[in-house]
Amino acid sequence: MPEHTGADSKDLWRTALPLLAERVGHATFDGFLRDAEPLNYDGETFVLGVPNQFAKAWLEERHSGVIGATLAELLQHQEPVRIEMQVSEGLAAPPSSEQLPCPEALPIPPATPSPSPAQTYDQLDPTPLNPRYTFDNFVVADCNRFAHAAGIQVAKSPGKSYNPLFIHSKVGLGKTHLMQAIGHMVQELHSNARVVYVSAENFVNQLITAIRDNRTAEFRSKYRSVDVCLVDDIQFIAEIEGPHSEEAFFHTFNTLYQTNKQVVIASDRAPRHLQLMNERLRSRLEMGIIADLRYPDIETRIAILEKKAHAEGVSMSRQILELIATEVESNIRALEGALLNVCAYVSLNALELTTDAVEQIIAPYRGRSNHHRATLDEIVKYVSEQMSCNTDDMLGPKRSQEIVWPRQVAMYLARELTDNSLAEIGRFFGRRDHTTVMHAYNKVSNLVANDEKVLWLINDMKGALRGE
Ligand code: ADP
Ligand code: MG
Repeated sequence: MPEHTGADSKDLWRTALPLLAERVGHATFDGFLRDAEPLNYDGETFVLGVPNQFAKAWLEERHSGVIGATLAELLQHQEPVRIEMQVSEGLAAPPSSEQLPCPEALPIPPATPSPSPAQTYDQLDPTPLNPRYTFDNFVVADCNRFAHAAGIQVAKSPGKSYNPLFIHSKVGLGKTHLMQAIGHMVQELHSNARVVYVSAENFVNQLITAIRDNRTAEFRSKYRSVDVCLVDDIQFIAEIEGPHSEEAFFHTFNTLYQTNKQVVIASDRAPRHLQLMNERLRSRLEMGIIADLRYPDIETRIAILEKKAHAEGVSMSRQILELIATEVESNIRALEGALLNVCAYVSLNALELTTDAVEQIIAPYRGRSNHHRATLDEIVKYVSEQMSCNTDDMLGPKRSQEIVWPRQVAMYLARELTDNSLAEIGRFFGRRDHTTVMHAYNKVSNLVANDEKVLWLINDMKGALRGE
């Protein structure tokens, strides 16, 4: 095997950098890898100079595997290259201690911070809220009623009701919108409250920047002085950046929580499904209230389209809106995209909209939601198990109170989760009339809107039946 000199190691590193940029989180890349210095490669061990102890620990713990594999790929080696990190004096000024990046234990910055404040100030600045993401613009329906109610509650009395509020859903179903709506409402109701909205990715970026520039005290105090902290896409911390950033987030969270500051977190999955190393963080996340956003049904999709078309100042026939809502099922973002394209077409062409034209415009957005579609049999079986009653009784003639309520719940779920008509559902439930199903549906809907316990029950059942 040929020996590689320092010069070779530089070439190798230069070739590896663009690959690494795609393979590690960009916070890590910009913060540490871009300026790291290849020191030596002896054919076995690649020595990388990094700016400080923190960078060393961070990279060793989380990224040396991918760096080693990338170098091996370039060298066409079977085995990953061994990576050694060395703190290199020539690189950025190292922080004064060897602590890990918990904001509580972050290195204390020197008395005179080195970088110019103007240059880095922006990086610690919060992301402004999107003015469109308000409660007024948020259509409330069964798919989001619970999360919406929890959000309003939190905005009215931050830090005093549900803490943290954990919102989760698949992509494009309104997490960011709801979170920012909370932020807007807090600002309206409590003019002195400091609201910070930050994506988890940005949080990690800020952390890395702060450490690199010896501005950790600023980072810490910034998050300490926040009254309502909205952290979006927390799965990023769990999956991309690893234990150090989890730890940092955990400490920030604890500080806020212990001083009764409100924390709202959004994620693409429930806390129990997050790939967290830190179990204490998981249990903290589960400590408050967990609310999910589900796929909107067809009526809700139409209502959302109506509202958006109105906001765009475009009037569109019910038939067109129904067509879009039927075809675009995958998520609300896609629904919006489809509608905006149709609006653009209308304003550009000043033509009468034909069904064909709409079909064509929305083709790229067409998509089904991919949640599991429960069958009537599954619903009846599941509700019988959950509410401890007999499946045969559910479908039989009995009218005692013990069976009527579970049957009404099952009918409600059947209407919500399947495409069967009222008549079909009635027939399935022991040849009952469609008006009986309608009555059951209305009764449960009313309770869902007015009784938190029923809302919880139905919410959980829906989630389980959809396999979420
Ligand atoms: P997520 O953060 O879950 O990926 P977003 O909050 O970005 O989803 O929502 C995607 C788009 O759908 C946004 O433009 C948002 O305004 C819109 N949207 C989501 N839920 C609703 C709702 N209930 N009513 C109106 N618009 C919504
Ligand atoms: Mg989002």
